[in-house]
Amino acid sequence: MQQVFTHHDSAMVGLLNGILKESGIPTLLKNWTGSNIVEIPIPSLYPSIFVMNDADAPEARQIIDEYLSHKGNELPDWTCPACGSTVDGYLSECWSCQTER
Ligand SMILES: [Zn+2]
Repeated sequence: MQQVFTHHDSAMVGLLNGILKESGIPTLLKNWTGSNIVEIPIPSLYPSIFVMNDADAPEARQIIDEYLSHKGNELPDWTCPACGSTVDGYLSECWSCQTER
């Protein structure tokens, strides 16, 4: 078992954990509180994602990196003209109704 990600924001840890599971990588959460921010800012107590199989770690890290780099060159979110959903800036079509930007 290997840790692939840790962050004080458990919402982000939960989101990435979901992305990994969708990619077929078995994961385990540690220090998961379910609340948004860990109250005691001690990195060893941050919510963490572990992969069950060490062999999955490189792929898991790559998926996480890709996700975070999308977040990094933050394009502004946009509003779908067809259904009014708020869509992440890096998506070129609406996640809800597939209308093109
Ligand atoms: Zn839409």
